[in-house]
Amino acid sequence: MSFDYDLFVIGGGSGGVRAARVAAQGGAKVALAEESRYGGTCVIRGCVPKKLMVFASEYPGHIEDAQAYGWDVTGGDFDWLAFRGKLEGELDRLEGVYRSLLKNSGVETFDTRAKLVGAHEVELADGTRKSAKHILLAMGGWPVKPEQKGAELGITSNEIFHLGKLPGKMLIVGGGYIACEFACILNGLGVEVTQYYRGEQILRGFDGEARGLVSEEMIQKGVDLHLGTNILEMEKTGEGIRVKASNGRTDVFDEVMFATGRAPNTRDMGLEELGLELGRNGEVIVDEYSQTKVPSIYAIGDVTDRVNLTPVAIREGMAFVETVFNGNPTPVDHELIPTAIFTQPEMGTIGLSEEEAREQEPVEIYCTSFKPMQQSFAGRADRVLMKLVVSQQSRKVLGCHIVAPGAGEMIQLAGIAVKMGATKEDFDRTVAVHPTMSEEIVTMREPVRKA
Ligand code: NDP
Repeated sequence: MSFDYDLFVIGGGSGGVRAARVAAQGGAKVALAEESRYGGTCVIRGCVPKKLMVFASEYPGHIEDAQAYGWDVTGGDFDWLAFRGKLEGELDRLEGVYRSLLKNSGVETFDTRAKLVGAHEVELADGTRKSAKHILLAMGGWPVKPEQKGAELGITSNEIFHLGKLPGKMLIVGGGYIACEFACILNGLGVEVTQYYRGEQILRGFDGEARGLVSEEMIQKGVDLHLGTNILEMEKTGEGIRVKASNGRTDVFDEVMFATGRAPNTRDMGLEELGLELGRNGEVIVDEYSQTKVPSIYAIGDVTDRVNLTPVAIREGMAFVETVFNGNPTPVDHELIPTAIFTQPEMGTIGLSEEEAREQEPVEIYCTSFKPMQQSFAGRADRVLMKLVVSQQSRKVLGCHIVAPGAGEMIQLAGIAVKMGATKEDFDRTVAVHPTMSEEIVTMREPVRKA
C-alpha cells in the first residue's frame, strides 16, 4: 500500500518539530500540521517568553543591589508595552526559525488543524485527507480553569503575555510551577500579587525543605501568599473582579490568573473513535516507545502527560525517530530528570526529595542554608539552600536540591553527576570552586540527620 507520506506529525511544538525534522533529514517523506503558531507552548506561550519576563522582573533588585555596591543609579518605571513589543518581535523571530528548520529539512507544512480519521489517515480542516505510514501525535497541552462560577473572568498563562497593561493588583490561583513563577515575575515587575494555593505548601511533590525556603523567600519579597486557600466566589464589579476566598477574605483584583494545571489537547481529534486509549486527564496512553494501541500511531510530549517538560518531549521525539525510522527500538529514559522552577530565588532539583527517599531506604541528609555573599553584602536577607539526599547503603546521591539565584544553571551540571550515579564521596573528592555558592555542594562534611 502506498501512502502520501512516511510520517504525518500533528503539532508543531518542540517535540513534533524535532521528530519531523530528524525523520526528514534521515530521508523520510514528512508532513506536519500546526493550527496555531510554530514552536508550540515552549516558544510561543511558555518557557521562552516566561524566561524573558523573569529577566525583566529581576532588574529592580539588580538596581537596588547596584546602589548598595556604591553605584549612583535609580530605577525608573517599567514600560510594559515597550517590553511586550520587543517580546513579540523575539517570538516572531523564533517562530520563523522553527518554520525554516522544517522547510530546510524538507518537511511539508500545513498551517491548519488536523485530526485522525484512520490508522493511517488524517483530515485537515478543509476536509482534505492525507495518508501516512506513521502518524505522530504531538498536540501538547492547554491550561485548564477550575469549573466554578465566574472562572471565565480569570485569565491563564496563555493570556498573560498579551495584557494591554500590567494590573495594579493581581490574584494568582495555584501552587505549581506556573503559579509560583508568575507570582514572582509579576511581583518583580511591580504588580501587587496575591497567591492562593489550596494545599498546605506550594510546589507539591518537591523536597519539603526546598519548597519551604522558596515559599519564605517569595513572601519576604512581597508575594501575599495564602496557603490552604481557594476561591469561593468571583464576580465582576465596577472596580474589578471581586473574589471571596475560603480564608474569609474578600478582595478586588484587576486580574485573576488561574495556574491550576494543564490538560492534553486530545478533544475532537478522533482518537477514541480509532481505538486509542485515553487516561483520566485525557492523555494519550503510550508504551515506553511512545506507541499507542494503534500500531501506526505514536504520541510524544505533553499530549501523553508523562513528564511535561520541553527537553523531555524533544527526547521522546528523537527516540520515536530512532525506533521507527532507524530500526533501533529506543525507550525514553524518564529517570532522574533535572528541572528548574524559575521562581525568585530559583529552585533546581534532580532525583528524590527527602520525603520520597525516606520511604524507599535509609538515607543521610546533607543540607546547608546561608546568606550568599553578593546579596548579603547588598544588605539583602535572601537565603540559599544546598541539599543532598544520600543512600546510607550505596552512598549514591539520590537527590540534589538547590534554592539559589542561578539554581537552574547549577542543577544542569550537578545533574550529570547524579545521573552518572555519583556517590557522596565522589562529590567530596571534587575540589570546591571558591568563592561560589555552589561550592557548598562539595563541602558538606557531616549529615544534618539520618532517616
Ligand atoms: P501543576 O500541575 O504543576 O500545578 C497546578 C496547581 O494548581 C497545583 O498547585 C494544584 O494544586 C492547583 N490546582 C489544580 N486544580 C485546582 C483547583 N480546581 N482549584 C485550585 N487549585 C487547583 O500545573 P502548572 O499549570 O503549574 O504547570 C503544568 C506543567 O507545566 C508543570 O507540571 C510542568 O511540568 C510544566 N512547566 C514547567 C516549567 C519549568 O520547567 N520551569 C514551567 C512551567 C510549567 P494541588 O497541588 O493541590 O494539586
